[in-house]
Amino acid sequence: PPAPDALDLPLRWNNRFATLGDAFFAPLSPTPLPAPYWVGTSAAAARSAGWDEALLRDPDVLQALTGNRPLTGSTPLASVYSGHQFGQWAGQLGDGRAILLGEVDGLEVQLKGAGLTPFSRMGDGRAVLRSSIREFLASEAMHGLGVPTSRALCVTGSDAPVRRETIETAAVVTRMAPSFIRFGHFEHFCHHGMPGELKILADFVIDHYYPECRTEARWNGNPYVALLAAVTARTAEMVASWQAVGFCHGVMNTDNMSILGLTIDYGPFQFMDAYDPGHICNHSDTGGRYAFYKQPNVAYWNLFCLGQAMMPLIDEQEHAIAALETFKDLYPQAFARRMAAKLGFTDVQEAQKPVIEGILKLLAADKVDFTIFWRRLSHWVADSSVKADSVRDLFLDRAGFDAWLLSYSELLTHIPRALAADLMLKTNPKYVLRNHLGEQAIQAARQKDFSVVADLLKVLETPYDEHPDFEAWAGFPPDWAAQISISCSS
Ligand code: AMP
Ligand code: MG
Ligand code: MG
Repeated sequence: PPAPDALDLPLRWNNRFATLGDAFFAPLSPTPLPAPYWVGTSAAAARSAGWDEALLRDPDVLQALTGNRPLTGSTPLASVYSGHQFGQWAGQLGDGRAILLGEVDGLEVQLKGAGLTPFSRMGDGRAVLRSSIREFLASEAMHGLGVPTSRALCVTGSDAPVRRETIETAAVVTRMAPSFIRFGHFEHFCHHGMPGELKILADFVIDHYYPECRTEARWNGNPYVALLAAVTARTAEMVASWQAVGFCHGVMNTDNMSILGLTIDYGPFQFMDAYDPGHICNHSDTGGRYAFYKQPNVAYWNLFCLGQAMMPLIDEQEHAIAALETFKDLYPQAFARRMAAKLGFTDVQEAQKPVIEGILKLLAADKVDFTIFWRRLSHWVADSSVKADSVRDLFLDRAGFDAWLLSYSELLTHIPRALAADLMLKTNPKYVLRNHLGEQAIQAARQKDFSVVADLLKVLETPYDEHPDFEAWAGFPPDWAAQISISCSS
């Protein structure tokens, strides 16, 4: 029976994950937080999920999405998974602070930071305001950029203290995705010798998210090999889109890898300012395992962990390896497509290769601002009155840049310039969630001024548009941006 104080919202719950059985999760309720307040709300996320956006102004909903009131139709639970962290088997992990409320219209709804679960290990089950604002803005920014990602409906805060390096305050992110199943869910049931549950999990994922794998003729008719190939393809696309916008995830552990190829679990991520392939955004990543340029290879390594975990469902190891090895073609193709678009081309051609490699080398050598470079180049292509100096000035190696621009201009002569310009302005964002922008939103929110969160959200939702009131947010990072230290602490 529903709890007496349960809130009945006009939402159609259909909690499919909760049908999987005891081995997959622990049912439990969120732990309340005192006197919650709205920190940020995404009307766009609400609309895309079929939630009336007026719900994000309702004080009862505020209580419910902070975990203080049950929702009729919700079956809250924490799921168990395992995984490899920084290249090592880490054993059992699980939703240590995220609680799955259930599924509404095909989207799972999770409260992150909603209190202790059986999988909290040494943690406190909470999330701090700082990291919650970062996850909220990043999710919606990535969606705005066209990168596959979980969405964020809102962040609510409470003045309840949370101990990290210093005392901070608590927050809860309501996040949504068709599924939050991770590579680590598969690893869990393989490692614990539970082939029955492994098969239930794989069948669940196929039936609900990859039904085409049942009828796929390739892969010797084995739907699990087809699933591995499909996840490989989606993961390749996801990482390629990260590389194309300069996004560094920071913690590509297998428990943070979505089975749907979505960017999930935003922690110490960073949108790069200066282009530096070796950039390490996570101060806890002392070995640089998750440096920017390593992300495609790490994704591939993680896929092998998934393949290993699925072996009980696959007869021949060679079949699994063949599915995994498609990454070696799919990733470069996905990356090449995105780089071609950044240069203004709708299709990939061999002649683009040296041009792309050439510019990445120059950008890295002079640590040029990645976002500003591509945007200025787009304007140079779009408008003949824009001088090449606006782009050239970004480089120390002017001769190198001039030579590059000559080779690029030669490529451009083969396509209508207006078409190239149009594509570039829709591919090269003006705004990304730079660390210092997130930091400004966080500092204001700590003073209970949530307007910067709202304004940043508005700009990041349409990052390819001009936002004349927020021109400064498209500029170079201030000197203090380099001092922002982002670690796993969240
Ligand atoms: P992450 O790499 O941040 O995604 O977290 C790795 C694991 O630690 C996951 O199982 C999380 O649920 C768990 N975890 C992280 N922070 C906390 C916390 N404050 N309380 C409980 N569990 C946590
Ligand atoms: Mg995680
Ligand atoms: Mg996390």
